[in-house]
Amino acid sequence: MLTAENLHKAYRRQAVRVPVLNGLDLEVKTGEFLSIVGASGSGKSTLLHLLGTLDAPDSGRIFLDGKRIDNLPNRDRDALRNRVFGYIFQFYHLLPELTTLDNVLMPAYIGHSVLGWMKSRSKLRARAMELLTKVGMGHRIKHRPRELSGGELQRAAVARALLMNPRVLLADEPTGNLDAATGDEIVRLLRDLNRDDGVTIVMVTHNLDIVTATDRVVRMVGGVVTDDTMAKKPSFHSPLLAAV
Ligand code: ADP
Ligand code: MG
Repeated sequence: MLTAENLHKAYRRQAVRVPVLNGLDLEVKTGEFLSIVGASGSGKSTLLHLLGTLDAPDSGRIFLDGKRIDNLPNRDRDALRNRVFGYIFQFYHLLPELTTLDNVLMPAYIGHSVLGWMKSRSKLRARAMELLTKVGMGHRIKHRPRELSGGELQRAAVARALLMNPRVLLADEPTGNLDAATGDEIVRLLRDLNRDDGVTIVMVTHNLDIVTATDRVVRMVGGVVTDDTMAKKPSFHSPLLAAV
C-alpha cells in the first residue's frame, strides 16, 4: 500500500552533509501494524516525515497504492496529509488555547471551507465526540491541554489523528514521553484501532517493550531498513488470525 523505494536523504549542518537515509526500501502492507525501531538519530523520524509527505527525499520514490506521492504539487500533498494520513507525535502537539474537542476537530477546520464546515459541523462534532469516547476521553472534552495528563493528551491526539478517517496512521514515538503503564495503554489503543477498524499503522519507537503488540518489526541501521527477528516472537499476533 505504502512503498518507499531507494530513499536518500541528507541534512546539511553548516558545511557538513549528514547522510541519514542511504537507499532505504520499505513496504507497508494494507492493514498491518508495523513498527520501526532503531537507535536515537538513526533516521526514524526522517523516514516517517517522508512517508507522510511532510518532507521530501533527496532521491528515491514513495508510492501510495502504486501512485507516486513524493513529488506531488503542494495542494495534492496538503490533501493527502489531511485525508489519507493521520499523525501522532511524541509531544502530542495539541494547541494549548483549544479545548480537547476543538483540538480533535482541528483537521476538519483545516480541511473544509467555511461553508463546508458550516454544513458538516454537527456531523463532525458527533464524530469527534464518538472518537473521544472511543479513546476514553469522553469526559474531558472541555479541558485544555494543560489540564490533562500525558496519557490523556496522547489519547486526544489519537482521536484527532482519526477524525478524517485516515487510511494510514503514522506514529512517531507515541509513548516516548509516557510512563510504561500509560505507554502500554496507548499501544493497546492503537492495536485495537488496527484490529477493529483496519487502520494501517506505522509506529516508530526506540522502546522494544512495546513492539510485541505489533505485526512486524523492522530495524533502521545505517540509513536502511533490515527485517528484525523479533517479529518472530511467539507473542506475535496477527489481526488476520484473530479474526478467524
Ligand atoms: P530519530 O528519529 O531516529 O532519532 P531523526 O530522523 O530525527 O532520527 O534524525 C536523524 C539524524 O538527522 C540525526 O543525526 C539528526 O540530528 C539529523 N537531523 C534530523 N533533522 C534534522 C534537520 N532538520 N537538520 C539537520 N539535521 C537533522
Ligand atoms: Mg525521532
